[in-house]
Amino acid sequence: MPNPPVQSEVVNRQISRLSGLRFQWLLFPKELENRFETETGDRRSRRLWLEGLIAIILFDLFLIADFYGSPQQFRKAFVVRLLVVTPICLLVNASMLRRPEKVFRESSIAIAACLAGITQLYLESNRNRVASAYVQMAVVAVILFTNIVMRLRLPYAVATSVVMLGGDGIFLWRDHMLGPNDKIFGLGLAIGATAITLVANYSSCREERLNYLLHLRGELLVADLNRLNAQLLRRSESDALTGLANRHSFDTQYVELWKRSMVSGTPLSVIIVDVDHFKQLNDRYGHLYGDEVLKRIGSLLQQALRVKDDYAARFGGEEFMILLPATPETAGLQVAERLRKMVELAGFPALDPSQRPYDMSIRATVSCGVATAYPTVHDTPEQLLEAADRALYQAKAEGRNRVCSAPKNARARVRSASAT
Ligand code: GH3
Ligand code: MG
Ligand code: MG
Repeated sequence: MPNPPVQSEVVNRQISRLSGLRFQWLLFPKELENRFETETGDRRSRRLWLEGLIAIILFDLFLIADFYGSPQQFRKAFVVRLLVVTPICLLVNASMLRRPEKVFRESSIAIAACLAGITQLYLESNRNRVASAYVQMAVVAVILFTNIVMRLRLPYAVATSVVMLGGDGIFLWRDHMLGPNDKIFGLGLAIGATAITLVANYSSCREERLNYLLHLRGELLVADLNRLNAQLLRRSESDALTGLANRHSFDTQYVELWKRSMVSGTPLSVIIVDVDHFKQLNDRYGHLYGDEVLKRIGSLLQQALRVKDDYAARFGGEEFMILLPATPETAGLQVAERLRKMVELAGFPALDPSQRPYDMSIRATVSCGVATAYPTVHDTPEQLLEAADRALYQAKAEGRNRVCSAPKNARARVRSASAT
């Protein structure tokens, strides 16, 4: 299940809250708490499983004390410990491997710990003076184990401690082996252990959460940096005005496509698109309007190309480059003609009515130079660009708003190079 999104401000606020010296509730806001639980729950369940196993073994090892302490009651201790309490505790422990929900996990461990602790009181107290006195140590051991070793979440640790203290109080009250002073000492010991271990439990849970938050803050910072880097990379590769690829990106892509065409033995077509009389258009309607025209043409070029393979870039000023992989010259000429027509029809955005009226002689049109090559190791990528540039020159010379393919001599050079 993906983690819910958490914002850095929330994390920072929680870090400064938990870093203070005062008492703070440890629970995070809902989303963050869910994420904390999702990311730490698995590890915690597995840790509780291991510690639970150790606790069960220790609990059953008391059978040795039962055997030597009061052999006449050993049978009862054997049945209660091994046949009743141990199976229940093992069942609870095994459920930890199934990664249970927080409430089930914490409460079932708390109940199992209380069950083991009360069983200990039941079996040991009121048997003889030594057992009644030493069972107080068992109560303290249970409190230490749940509050410090297992580090039950604070409310569950408090509940376990209260149940254990209550049980201890009842057994001490009903005990006939100990004097009043012994009982007060025993209960005092358990209360002291509870107070100390609850403080320790709170501190370590707070530390754990603080560490988690610092780790999460690091992760969020790295994610932010990666996003910004990707953004910067996108910006460094695209032209701010038209949103097409920029010259720098074109250079890389051109070499890449050239190599690919060489490997696959397919033709690579290049179209240079240059806006006609753009200087006049700028002079007549202003640079801002000229920019609008460039944006419009950029978007028309993009729309006219195949989404997957074709590539359009702003080469500089009012010149654009189109790369058409696996495209022979006839298809390249058709694409160029389609682009030219599109610009002729739609490349002149509506003017503000307050502006001067249209001057039909300087509407935005484009001229296109097309060249195609079957790249080989004997050719250079520049030859193809030069050929397309010559074709563009010819289109301009023949009157603009038209498409020309590479002049015969330029084409011949490209072709003869590829033929060798
Ligand atoms: P031709 O038909 O021969 O291509 O003529 P032209 O006027 O288009 O070509 P020329 O090279 O004489 O002028 C190009 C003009 O493009 C000059 C420059 O001010 C303008 N230009 C270049 N970049 C931009 C730009 O980003 N925005 C605007 N508005 N104008 C630009
Ligand atoms: Mg130009
Ligand atoms: Mg021009």
